[in-house]
Amino acid sequence: MSSSRGGVDVVTEALAELHGRYGALSEGRVADYIPQLAFADRDCFGLALMSMDGHGYRAGRCGVSFTLQSLTKPFVLALVLAELGADEVRRSVGAEPSGEAYNAISLDAVTGRPANPMINAGAIAVTALVPATGPGERFARILECLGRFAGRALYVDEDVYRSEVATGDRNRALAYLMRGTGVLRGDPGESVDTYFRQCAVRATVTDLAVMGATLANGGINPVTRERVVPEPVAVQVLSVMAMCGMYDAAGSWMLNVGLPAKSGVSGGLVAVSPDRFGIAVHSPPLDAVGNPVRGVAALRELSERFGLHLMRNAAPGAPTVPLSTTTNGGRIALIVAQGRLDFTAAERVLFALEQRRAGAPGAIVLALERVSGMDSSAKAMLERALTLLMEAGHDVTVVGDLPFRTHGTWKRSTDRAQALTAAERALPAVQDRHRDPDGNR
Ligand code: GLU
Repeated sequence: MSSSRGGVDVVTEALAELHGRYGALSEGRVADYIPQLAFADRDCFGLALMSMDGHGYRAGRCGVSFTLQSLTKPFVLALVLAELGADEVRRSVGAEPSGEAYNAISLDAVTGRPANPMINAGAIAVTALVPATGPGERFARILECLGRFAGRALYVDEDVYRSEVATGDRNRALAYLMRGTGVLRGDPGESVDTYFRQCAVRATVTDLAVMGATLANGGINPVTRERVVPEPVAVQVLSVMAMCGMYDAAGSWMLNVGLPAKSGVSGGLVAVSPDRFGIAVHSPPLDAVGNPVRGVAALRELSERFGLHLMRNAAPGAPTVPLSTTTNGGRIALIVAQGRLDFTAAERVLFALEQRRAGAPGAIVLALERVSGMDSSAKAMLERALTLLMEAGHDVTVVGDLPFRTHGTWKRSTDRAQALTAAERALPAVQDRHRDPDGNR
């Protein structure tokens, strides 16, 4: 993490300010239904943010490790989705908000499945799905995966594990019920034991921020640069977190904060701003539904202050098309694009192309050398449009070195001036072809 560069940067300053203000909140109760959790220091409070570029910021006590508990649920779900695919996982667990307590004894009357992977029943079913030859290997895979999300090896708190084993009868009951309905394929005792171990994995709030940032970054850990899960898996996990990650307050959380998130009984909370960062808070006192009081308050303000609510979905800020013009009496169109292209940016480029292209076949130069990247939707849109323009008889040149999937049959150039000169030279031939498409004179 890079918050100790000397002077105070603005992000650290914002986190420190939230830490100072919300540290004063005294409400909430430290969970004690797993006896070992009751030993947590209720004053411990840390916030950590990890950006997509691997820039870390933090405030408060961030070096203290705590057991991840339910915070492991999205990450183990990611492992299982990556291994088995969504259809297979869906056979054992749904993806609907349950509106019931996290440990509710509730399985769908028809399918016997738990409502979603964020309640205990769903998480136990997901844990049991991790492919392995036995419980030892299964847990080793889970621990290894959590470590890859965090960017360092994590370990189990044996005391918390034993404490939960001694008191976890409700979770055992859930596992046996699911065995009865047929959705839990493994041995209920073993499955729940693996789940208890998973809940007892310790990490710091800094680790948790990296784990969230890995989901924000489409499955690539922004610190180690390792791909942990495929991008579609990260998107699915974030969707489940957005709907079901905050216990019975998932609705008001989405309304007020608007970010996919997950909390756990040890007071951890991780929220993800897709394509931006992961942020984590640790503070043990919980509100009535089991979410950390200080974490919820601090992230609500952070989201408002920095305009992070997902439904704002800001379009690209800088102008996408700084230049859109024609030369040679309207027969050559030049469109220059810049920045990162997503759906909206691509739509702007295509709109400009449509406006500037000649009615009859002419030449088109699309200058993309100032484009820093394109998402897959933008790539597909541009490829399709360029193909259609070629089919309509235009002489099309793309300037810049961008990773198109097909590279079509359009011309490519690395120099805009050269591309324009070449387009000018190509014009007579284009017009000849247009006059006589079969090439007969
Ligand atoms: N190990 C805890 C349980 O299953 C996790 C609960 C939670 O963090 O929500 O009861």
